[in-house]
Amino acid sequence: MGLSVAHFLLKEGARVTLVDRDPEGDKTSFGNAGGIAVTEVIPASVPGLLLKVPGWLLDPLGPLALRPAYAPRLIPWFWRFSQAGRPAEVARIATALASINRRVYEDLLPLLAENGLSAELHQQGALTVYESEAAYAKDASQWQLKRAHGVEVVPLSGAEVRDMEPALAATISRGVFTPQWSHINDPKVLVDKLRQALQARGLNIVTGQVHDVLPTVGATAVSVQLEGARSLSADQAVIACGAWSAILAARVGDKVLLESERGYNTTLAQPGVKLTREVIFAERHFVATPLSCGLRIGGAAEFGGLEAKANFKRSEALARLAARYLPKLHTEGGRFWAGHRPATPDSLPVIGPSARNPNVIYAFGHGHLGLTQGATTGRLVNDLVHGKPLPIDIAPFAITRFN
Ligand SMILES: Cc1cc2nc3c(=O)[nH]c(=O)nc-3n(C[C@H](O)[C@H](O)[C@H](O)COP(=O)(O)OP(=O)(O)OC[C@H]3O[C@@H](n4cnc5c(N)ncnc54)[C@H](O)[C@@H]3O)c2cc1C
Repeated sequence: MGLSVAHFLLKEGARVTLVDRDPEGDKTSFGNAGGIAVTEVIPASVPGLLLKVPGWLLDPLGPLALRPAYAPRLIPWFWRFSQAGRPAEVARIATALASINRRVYEDLLPLLAENGLSAELHQQGALTVYESEAAYAKDASQWQLKRAHGVEVVPLSGAEVRDMEPALAATISRGVFTPQWSHINDPKVLVDKLRQALQARGLNIVTGQVHDVLPTVGATAVSVQLEGARSLSADQAVIACGAWSAILAARVGDKVLLESERGYNTTLAQPGVKLTREVIFAERHFVATPLSCGLRIGGAAEFGGLEAKANFKRSEALARLAARYLPKLHTEGGRFWAGHRPATPDSLPVIGPSARNPNVIYAFGHGHLGLTQGATTGRLVNDLVHGKPLPIDIAPFAITRFN
């Protein structure tokens, strides 16, 4: 998110300093599934979802997990999550998500081209696959809602699915092709190359832990306080710290409900099977993406805070699960990874100025869609910084919704 914001600010002619405690480190943007998931406009909380939660929690390696010691701290977040699943809320949130996703390529394609990264993107669409007719029928209203927001939806039979992806098992009975989806070569490569390209264009990178952003009076408006009694002065500061952003927002004086929704994956360098596009396994809530570094099998949503130790049995379990759907998959030798999705209870990001300090702008909370929405968020932040008219209404993304 920080790099996307920097791209648009540099383009506008601003002097930009990016502060990160670990600029080359392995954070969420490095290990995600690589999907440009513009078709995903439905919030995580939908009617009926809460009824499935007890069953998921009983399965120790299922799609959802809560760390018991952390559970009491999650009550406000889950209360708000349950409210986001009311039908009127789902409709409102889907409209807001679609307003960003609809313009993703308009912002992303130039960002890639201007940094020499166009070859990193594969516009092959995605396949969502189902084993059971019942699960497919249950999702009909969600596909209908997506269609209503301009998502192209092509229903397929099991045989048509296997024509597109012959590696998939005969147990797949239904599929949906979404041509607008795309995927990238490798999230880590993309972030590394973007950072290097932006440095060549004048981005100043400072390594350091930020612990506060204070208003100042004088020539500049904010002072960014770093560890070791260091500080940086600026006209504006953008807080784009992913799942860690609530800590700094609280310092600025803004309340937000943001949790780590930890996801896991396994990347198989020699998977023994070939996919052309990302495949989403609807019933079991995981995905497989053909990246340049191998086949990445990922999913899971674990709520345990930012400090809990990762449980890589989840990564292993995902690879084993994938072998059910990809019978020739070689699951040995996978590289495990876990990352903190910055999750808000309403599945909407926080984009816009602080309620306390108009010179602080937020760009975080993109949950499952941070790679997808990065470029558009960067463009919106640049428009805010420069007082330009915004291409979409950002009211649904205001931090004040948590007051
Ligand atoms: C398993 C998994 C699969 C995913 N798949 C997809 C996908 O296919 N498509 C998609 O669109 N999204 C996907 N996502 C979501 C996406 O990866 C995230 O939304 C996105 O990476 C968030 O980016 P970010 O820049 O906000 O946070 P991060 O990438 O986590 O970056 C935050 C940065 O802030 C720095 N930082 C934090 N606090 C401080 C501080 N106090 N001082 C200095 N620096 C600080 C950190 O060092 C870090 O570099 C996936 C996520 C996971 C976990």
